[in-house]
Amino acid sequence: MPSRRIDLHSHSRYSDGSDSPAELIAEASAAGVDVVALTDHDTLAGIDEATGAIRGTGMTLVPGIELSAQVIDPLPGAVPRSVHVLGLLVDGHDAELVAEMARIRDHRADRLRLMVEKLAVDFDISWDEVRGGMAAGATPGRPHIAQVLIAKGYFPDTDAAFATALRADGLYHVPHYAPRLLRALEIITNAGGVAILAHPATGARSGALDHSAPLLELIAAYSLYVDAGLAGLEIDHRENTEDGKAVLRSVASELGLIVTGSSDYHGDRKGNRLGENTTSEEHYEAILSRATGAAPISL
Ligand code: AMP
Ligand code: ZN
Ligand code: FE
Ligand code: FE
Repeated sequence: MPSRRIDLHSHSRYSDGSDSPAELIAEASAAGVDVVALTDHDTLAGIDEATGAIRGTGMTLVPGIELSAQVIDPLPGAVPRSVHVLGLLVDGHDAELVAEMARIRDHRADRLRLMVEKLAVDFDISWDEVRGGMAAGATPGRPHIAQVLIAKGYFPDTDAAFATALRADGLYHVPHYAPRLLRALEIITNAGGVAILAHPATGARSGALDHSAPLLELIAAYSLYVDAGLAGLEIDHRENTEDGKAVLRSVASELGLIVTGSSDYHGDRKGNRLGENTTSEEHYEAILSRATGAAPISL
């Protein structure tokens, strides 16, 4: 069989992407993608629509999530860092996972409303406008605020809004609840999913670990995550630095981890294009043989 184009990370309107699940499947097909994972932030709400859209396309849908998590270094005054974990092929009926996703989404909604209140001091923006631009049931995120600020001419695009008004260390930012990374890994693994650390080496933006640390230290730190259920690393992602990718490859080979590549497509909200990074058949097979929560869907 010729090798397929496998893209294991994308977002629809059910989180902060701009496409409906059906539009996303159509885009994936046009991009020559054969296997696509829908991994909205903290929700599986788009999977049914994506399943309907996959019918007759010859493509395969991998149901998944991108679970919000955080790392807090054991140092006085440490500021929590936001990290993301892909949970591929999780069981959508797992009670713990369902409850945790709901908890995160509730806190995200409160947090976004608070951010809008802070922004409203300096910008013409209201919570009703932000909420009005979100699809019913969508996981609230800063890109929903960015959309309103862009529409009103404050910023040319999402990146510009994130570089100033929406930055995590900025004046208007409010953090939201997320489980600690070790807990997030356990929840996904207990739900039969395959836990892949998303974009682990984006440099300044986030990341569980400092990839400029000595390799042996990093391997020791990653092995604690492996004990909690970590199965793989998303290495081929446009936001990982080249230095970071090289380090991650050493870690993955040392610990026998799955390596994925993916686009992290968000429709027109980000430049990431479906299929721009892909996962090998070999590593995809490793994901399938590990998952017990759900099966890939091809109809
Ligand atoms: P939030 O989930 O509210 O913390 O917002 C972060 C989300 O915004 C991430 O999932 C990113 O994919 C998305 N995003 C879009 N553009 C950017 C950007 N320029 N910088 C950081 N995050 C961005
Ligand atoms: Zn996102
Ligand atoms: Fe992410
Ligand atoms: Fe993502």
